[in-house]
Amino acid sequence: MFWEEKIETMQQGDLQALQLERLKKIAADADQAPFYKNLFVKNKFDPSTIRTLDDVRRIPFTTKEDLREAWPYGLLAVPKDELVRMHSSSGTTGRSTVIFHTARDLDAWTDTLCRSMYMTGMRKADVFQNMMTYGLFTGGLGFHYGAERLGALTIPVGAGNSKRQIQLMRDFDTTVLHIIPSYALHLSGVFEELSVDPRRDTRLRIAFLGAEPHSEKTRGRIEEFYGLKAFNSYGLSEMNGPGVAFECQCQAGLHVWEDNFLMEIIDPDTLEPVADGVEGELVLTTLKREGMPVLRYRTKDLTHIIAGPCACGRTHRRIERITGRTDDMLIIKGVNIFPVQIEKKLMEISDVGNNFQIILERKGYNDHMIVRVEVVKELFSGDLKQLESLRKKIMEELRSDILITPRVDLVEPNTLPKTEGKAVRVIDNRTD
Ligand code: AMP
Ligand code: ZN
Repeated sequence: MFWEEKIETMQQGDLQALQLERLKKIAADADQAPFYKNLFVKNKFDPSTIRTLDDVRRIPFTTKEDLREAWPYGLLAVPKDELVRMHSSSGTTGRSTVIFHTARDLDAWTDTLCRSMYMTGMRKADVFQNMMTYGLFTGGLGFHYGAERLGALTIPVGAGNSKRQIQLMRDFDTTVLHIIPSYALHLSGVFEELSVDPRRDTRLRIAFLGAEPHSEKTRGRIEEFYGLKAFNSYGLSEMNGPGVAFECQCQAGLHVWEDNFLMEIIDPDTLEPVADGVEGELVLTTLKREGMPVLRYRTKDLTHIIAGPCACGRTHRRIERITGRTDDMLIIKGVNIFPVQIEKKLMEISDVGNNFQIILERKGYNDHMIVRVEVVKELFSGDLKQLESLRKKIMEELRSDILITPRVDLVEPNTLPKTEGKAVRVIDNRTD
């Protein structure tokens, strides 16, 4: 039932003692990194003064902007030649945040995934089809090594090519999938098109759903259509990627691997801790990562702690599925997109006016992004070819930056709604 029983069922007191010991070490390690050395001096924080877990609150927060500013090597706590792997967050071809790992870091990350998969009932005899993007994105390689360590036959197919995915599932008797939930819904349409019934024609029994927010209802639909049990997998590249928090067979919240991550839930306005059960922003500290420690990282993800023990016997505390974000980051087909990226690109293009709007829609099971852009008035009189070529240009430019292809509509100046105060750039019409 357990992959690492001693750790997974550790009494809370012992777990906290382990966390404290690791917090002291990681804060001292972080002091070796230029970014933290500087931050500690500026905030008069001395890592050797940590006595209790509550002392974590004296450490300043780290944000995505900090990681961008310290790019590329400002958070390294070891010499560069100790590193063996780099990853980055999803979503942009530009300078994204990068994370570095030593061999020991990869080992610890792999263990968290192994534990997570084993916890759902996956075993050595399973055939694991990994349908996440391989490469810089953490979802592919993270799970890949976890599944191999668990001993399962692993099919590293990566994302996309729906018909081939279905063919592989059938040819090799795949039993476990790792898949983005919106893609799982989309793929159900392809199954239907091919008149293949996953319940009848495949041996699927488990799916790991991750990389984007999804509701209980979406899980239900996926379980129903595929005839399997689906488990929520949460992670972010700054904390390795997947393997931060994962559902067990009880499907009642996600266990955070607290020997690897110190969890806080704070009120995003006051920055003070909130009580169990109260929604707030998840803040995480890497407790084991030696290459690039990240302390008190503001994930911007909203959730709450589910109090009380879990029927599975694991003692690591659980969080509720992510309910939203404190910022305006959009997640479309598992790709992170900030509206400001779109604005930046648009404003670089001449003939683009002053206002734009992003509309998100769900057609069938597919998410679509429509970008409505005001352009100069002159383009609407005379040769409409110019308008069309501008439309294509905007689409191409956006695609190269945000990695998904939006539909672009061009409109005359002053036709998009204006708001007083903060612009409402995004209209999200996606509902479950
Ligand atoms: P990345 O760093 O590119 O892996 O993106 C991480 C972000 O994806 C997280 O901060 C969450 O906002 C989102 N995310 C990942 N997994 C989940 C999940 N299971 N449920 C909801 N959001 C998720
Ligand atoms: Zn449990």
